[in-house]
Amino acid sequence: MSPKDKINIAIDGYSASGKSTLAKLLANKLGYTYIDSGAMYRAVTLFALERGIIKEGNIYKPSLLEILPQLNIEFKKESKNYAETFLNEINVEKKIRTLEIAKYVSPISAIKEVREKLVSLQQSMGEKKGVVMDGRDIGSTVFPDAELKFFMISDIDVRVERRHQELTQRGDKISKTEVKENLRKRDYIDSNREESPLIQVEDAIVIDNSEVEMDELLIKLGKIAEDKITYLNQKVS
Ligand code: C5P
Repeated sequence: MSPKDKINIAIDGYSASGKSTLAKLLANKLGYTYIDSGAMYRAVTLFALERGIIKEGNIYKPSLLEILPQLNIEFKKESKNYAETFLNEINVEKKIRTLEIAKYVSPISAIKEVREKLVSLQQSMGEKKGVVMDGRDIGSTVFPDAELKFFMISDIDVRVERRHQELTQRGDKISKTEVKENLRKRDYIDSNREESPLIQVEDAIVIDNSEVEMDELLIKLGKIAEDKITYLNQKVS
């Protein structure tokens, strides 16, 4: 490992725990690539909704499996200073952030074949290292050998407040009770599914961001990451 060598950083945690914001900032700080794995599951959900595979609250799994090979997800920088999600060449960044998508994304994510496809895509994105990826199973399944792993926790009411603000700023009309119900449901499904459930792996550093400002957290995580990179480089050189 030379001083120029990069590491992979996994950030897992519950819905709306602030992982994405922090992961994006940390990647920028280190000059790394940020990958939002949740956006990929959201894109599959959008694909299923648009193809009529989710009807009246039911997911038709055989039909989803049939069209899964036609689905391609990429991250590309277009007009924003960060990479956005593209589903079969179309920018879907905005469309995947609705409550409609949030309603179905956890059951879709629990499907084995969906996970296999996305995990393999995510692993190929991290092959060259220098990736900060956030999600639910990054430290456990996608990058079990990641040099650095964080597990983010945050008070449920802080999470509700954060997600509610995000959705209302986009123009969605939704109550805090509805947001809370959705977060609770997703947390439950994500933590109890058979396929790579959300777990806190032993080697993850736990970060509680209920009361800490993002700036402060970024300084803290940036320092941990830089120390780790320096340590690993010294060890090998
Ligand atoms: O991170 P975000 O809330 O956008 O993720 C949306 C959903 O995608 C999660 O609730 C979870 O069901 C699923 N997901 C997953 N594994 C990941 C990332 C997200 O199952 N690595």
